[in-house]
Amino acid sequence: MKLEYRNLRVALLGGGSVGAQVARLLLEQGPELANRVGATLELVGIAVRDVNAERTVDLPHELFTTNAEELILGADIVIELMGGIEPARSHILLAISSGADVVTANKALLAQAGPELFAAANQVGAQINYEAAVAGAIPIVRPLRESLAGDQIKRILGIVNGTTNFILDRMDTEGSSLEDALAEATALGYAEADPTADIGGYDAAQKAAILASLAFHTTVPLASVYREGIESVTPAQIESARKAGYVVKLLAICERVTDENGVDGVSARVYPAMVPRSHPLAAVHGANNAVFVEAESAGSLMFYGAGAGGVETASAVLGDVVSIARRHVAGGPGVAASSYAGLPVFDIGRVTTRYAVTLEVTDEPGVLATIASVFSKRKVSLALVEQSMTPAVMATKSRAARSATATLVIGTHDATEAALAATVQDLATNSVVSEVASVLRVEGV
Ligand code: NAP
Repeated sequence: MKLEYRNLRVALLGGGSVGAQVARLLLEQGPELANRVGATLELVGIAVRDVNAERTVDLPHELFTTNAEELILGADIVIELMGGIEPARSHILLAISSGADVVTANKALLAQAGPELFAAANQVGAQINYEAAVAGAIPIVRPLRESLAGDQIKRILGIVNGTTNFILDRMDTEGSSLEDALAEATALGYAEADPTADIGGYDAAQKAAILASLAFHTTVPLASVYREGIESVTPAQIESARKAGYVVKLLAICERVTDENGVDGVSARVYPAMVPRSHPLAAVHGANNAVFVEAESAGSLMFYGAGAGGVETASAVLGDVVSIARRHVAGGPGVAASSYAGLPVFDIGRVTTRYAVTLEVTDEPGVLATIASVFSKRKVSLALVEQSMTPAVMATKSRAARSATATLVIGTHDATEAALAATVQDLATNSVVSEVASVLRVEGV
């Protein structure tokens, strides 16, 4: 017996890399999706800038329109895949106010205007799903929102930007320079023509804001995410990390923290850090993404896979569509975004981690004691001190300089960023230090 399903009207805003794949899958898998949802999903149109532009996927021309508002007003579900802030923000607000639910992959918009959009949705009982906004195809939003809803998240360490992971991986495995690895990423289509958002850590910071808000039930504004990119990571740093048993990764870190005065808060930050080679994140190669979650009861979990790509990201979008469509069939309001905890977001100075500091020092007796006293004055305790002369360092020095200075690699125990910054400042002006060659945080230990 053929079941009679009700019809849900789906409007697609954007028919680019992701949107075209979503449209194809909705059309090709219509009957299958209808059985999963209990309703048919009718793609009523695709809003684009240019209806005659060449598309990567063959789609019926009559579906394309430049009139996004008209599409939205006739839809039960609006999928926003335009990107950018406007008109995406206004379109989503229009969809919510006209009674539709929304699926979006727009991390830039959510990181900037998430609270406004979620508040508008909560007011009318609408749902906004955004699985594809963080780490492309990897299910991480729903696991945090649903599967782990009964647990306490302690920390998230994410490799959430494929371009920078590709570059750092090439520097580590092939000995490439940052420039050569970036050129390769561009040639392979991983990097944008303007790679600033990736290289500078801006893209990862948007994802950190989204993940931290979700994990800690707290609004974490993008402006409160501390950010450093990979611009200044050098082959010498990668090499000395490798020798010490570490790999350098650009991490998005979201953490529940208690400061020195016992105040609870959260931290969201992005920077290149040394990760032990034994850590699961060290095995994330190429342009892949992974999110490592540490939870109170569940322990450590890792979510791994493709962080971008049109069809891969479309999978996450369709999962959101099916989930929303099922709710339409079952009835009832959407699940509200939760920010009940309202924890303070700590600035980077209050965050505690470990550091690896590489110094060029005068090669003479007593230097070690001098350096140790600089750390001790700032109450930063040392875990390890090694004198080393890596080939990369050797190559940059004249024979005279090599004999006059030595390279010290110092690993610290946990210290606050503020204490470490003050220590580095003291080191830079100390007469036995000719150069603070590198300061890298150490994470995942
Ligand atoms: P894209 O290839 O640049 O496509 C954007 C689409 O939106 C195009 O079809 C474009 O129309 C349309 N559009 C843009 N501005 C418009 C406007 N003002 N009015 C009407 N149509 C407009 O983008 P994408 O890579 O598919 O990314 C879409 C979203 O998914 C973004 O938020 C992105 O951050 C997110 N995302 C992408 C990936 C990925 O791998 N690509 C992964 C995760 C998340 P025309 O075709 O006529 O120009």
